Amino acid sequence: MSVIIDDTCITCDACLQNCPVDAIVNDSNNPIGNNRYYVQPEKCIECVGVYDDPQCAAICPSIGCITWDMPYTKEFNTHFLNEDIYKLGTKNGVAKSPAFREKKYRTDIPLEMRGVHKEVQVAPEKLEVG
Ligand code: SF4
Ligand code: SF4
Repeated sequence: MSVIIDDTCITCDACLQNCPVDAIVNDSNNPIGNNRYYVQPEKCIECVGVYDDPQCAAICPSIGCITWDMPYTKEFNTHFLNEDIYKLGTKNGVAKSPAFREKKYRTDIPLEMRGVHKEVQVAPEKLEVG
């Protein structure tokens, strides 16, 4: 999912309000059932083309809660089909995995920064008001 929310989420709602593409759902609607907010990887664009940095991480008060995940590209299709972590939306019964439709991602974030709980480092003062 490009970015992912971990169990230090305090369900404050700030990220949901800040996402430009409505990719985030609250804990009540978390498809995995965890008591935390959830980024829908099939919708997240890592804020590419809209903001310089992921706006969810920029506003999140729980530092380190939002980390980089793998790019949402065909190369990582299997990764996103892990139903313990993700529950992808479907179309005509087919999961909207990267093989179905890839999403934009931050090409300047190297793979070694992804999928290993690397914090999306964005200083709050860099937050852009859209
Ligand atoms: S990185 Fe941007 S598009 Fe993705 S969930 Fe966060 S705010 Fe939304
Ligand atoms: S801004 Fe951070 S702490 Fe608040 S709901 Fe989103 S992920 Fe959770």
